[in-house]
Amino acid sequence: MTALVLDGKSLARKIEAELAAKVIELTSKAGGTKPVLATILVGDDPASATYVKMKGNACERIGMASLRVILSQSTTTDELLAEIDKLNADPRVHGILLQHPVPKQIDERKCFDRIAQEKDVDGVTALGFGSMSMNEPAYGSATPAGIMRLLLDYGVSIEGKHAVVVGRSPILGKPIAMMLLNANATVTICHSRTQGLPQLIGLADILIGAVGKPRFIKGEWIKDGAIVIDAGYHPGGVGDIDLSAGTDRYAAYTPVPGGVGPMTIAMLMAQTVESAEKSLV
Ligand code: NAP
Repeated sequence: MTALVLDGKSLARKIEAELAAKVIELTSKAGGTKPVLATILVGDDPASATYVKMKGNACERIGMASLRVILSQSTTTDELLAEIDKLNADPRVHGILLQHPVPKQIDERKCFDRIAQEKDVDGVTALGFGSMSMNEPAYGSATPAGIMRLLLDYGVSIEGKHAVVVGRSPILGKPIAMMLLNANATVTICHSRTQGLPQLIGLADILIGAVGKPRFIKGEWIKDGAIVIDAGYHPGGVGDIDLSAGTDRYAAYTPVPGGVGPMTIAMLMAQTVESAEKSLV
């Protein structure tokens, strides 16, 4: 059996090309006003700075504008809330991305939840999560939304499958579990206190690795014919799932790099364009 490669890099490129065309149309309809994504970077974490830069570059590639807010490492919760308030009130801004993690002294949840619903294009607010979980209109958290789009575009059927999600973070594990549930999968969510993890993983028709530990999930735990989605990304281009013994046994898998990663940015761009479309025309 040769596994289907869920190629996020090429799908993201296709999505970006479609978005670029949409941005031209939208900008012309709006008399030259471009969609704008505001990015907030707090502190001096080099990885966060790289992610924000990548998102700004993606805006440029599709013809959108980005507005960069850079705040110092010593920023307080109140100062960050005030910046978010300004962006919420700024009619030029269609989407707000608060890069996380933020420095420890900041109440991250409070700051995420301050983002106006209509500008929460990264899907980080509790309200957005609740709406998405209830199958109400909401922007999904970008990485899980990217995974769902990847499954959809490659025609992977979800209904009735047993999905095992390893990880329960607010931006990844929890939202992907709800999205899969809404797509009629039977979902098991695993975390650091889960007992018998290898056995549970062995039951997965669809496995989502979102642990944040390099090659933590072993290939031998995964059953033949599974669909293997690795959301992890670590230095050296390593994911959370160890597929070094080969991928032939699986029905489909996401490569690392080039699987889930590029889809995250593509979804952020798509949701910003959608928000701009609602506000501009
Ligand atoms: P996170 O916030 O650190 O969450 C990790 C989750 O894994 C937690 O729920 C934790 O459980 C669980 N976990 C830790 N050790 C475990 C163990 N021994 N057994 C079972 N579960 C365990 O990480 P995250 O933000 O969700 O990110 C996860 C991965 O995705 C990382 O590799 C990150 O780099 C990657 N990521 C990629 C993108 C992208 O754009 N490609 C975006 C976001 C994240 P507890 O809740 O019990 O602590």
